[in-house]
Amino acid sequence: MLIIGSHVSFNSKEQLFGSVKEAISYGANTFMFYTGAPQNTKRCLINSDLTNKAKKLMMENNIDINNVVCHAPYIINLANNKNKEKYLFAINFLKEEIKRVESLGIKKLVLHPGSYVDLDIKEGIKNIINALNEVLTPNQTVKICLETMAGKGTELCFKLEHIKSIFNEVKYNDKLMVCLDTCHLNDAGYDMEKFDEFLKEFDNVIGIEKIGCVHVNDSKNFIGAHKDRHENLGYGTIGFDSLINIIYNEKLQNVPKILETPYVCKENSKERSYAPYKFEIEEIINKKFNNNLYKDVRCFYEK
Ligand code: FE
Ligand code: FE
Ligand code: ZN
Repeated sequence: MLIIGSHVSFNSKEQLFGSVKEAISYGANTFMFYTGAPQNTKRCLINSDLTNKAKKLMMENNIDINNVVCHAPYIINLANNKNKEKYLFAINFLKEEIKRVESLGIKKLVLHPGSYVDLDIKEGIKNIINALNEVLTPNQTVKICLETMAGKGTELCFKLEHIKSIFNEVKYNDKLMVCLDTCHLNDAGYDMEKFDEFLKEFDNVIGIEKIGCVHVNDSKNFIGAHKDRHENLGYGTIGFDSLINIIYNEKLQNVPKILETPYVCKENSKERSYAPYKFEIEEIINKKFNNNLYKDVRCFYEK
């Protein structure tokens, strides 16, 4: 069965219950959320009544909580330890995030491994390893999915070998998985048109069973551009057919696919106002590209 959803919001008022409602409105059977704003580390207390309401609503709508994914805020940087205070803060935040995610009953937490900034690749990877060895515990029920990155700036894990060296050195590496992001892989230099070849390589280097999540995004940039700018399905350089081919790959059948494509702007505006996910999920289910996506989305939200 296709497991498809998108990034949805999570606000302090409705928490996970609000996220589930939003996912259902898109016709999704899974979703991804941040426990607060992606760009900061301010977090609210998890309300168990709202969590229970969310779980009930998921059950009623055939959303398997095992397929729901949380994303850690992207300002958490485990790769640079020059500022000790910041590095320790990131480690402690991640420890708390794992607890928060566990209390919500979620099993997967996606993490951007980090940027080495003024260090180098080797030191950066070492810092990530040390941090994960500090964070991971043998009894935790959450798996951390390290995301494949575009290699923008000094970002690490734009090569499978980076992820492999982290897996090799982390003690409780059974708590680690990988999140493939198609836009990031493209921008990192992997050809998404030849996805079977990529999967073979992934299986050789890391092991296909380690794939815990796929972020399905088209890219605004060419292969190897190291940019990381997401595009709506079929409107970028990867293309609709290649993305459908990835989404329906037999070997990834049980892996949740999450859309992180950009919101659609209002007519003659640069303000990204409308979520395209209901329409993109429809395109995926029908395996048919919608060349009127922007118009359809605007009509839907403005009617
Ligand atoms: Fe991400
Ligand atoms: Fe992503
Ligand atoms: Zn990205």
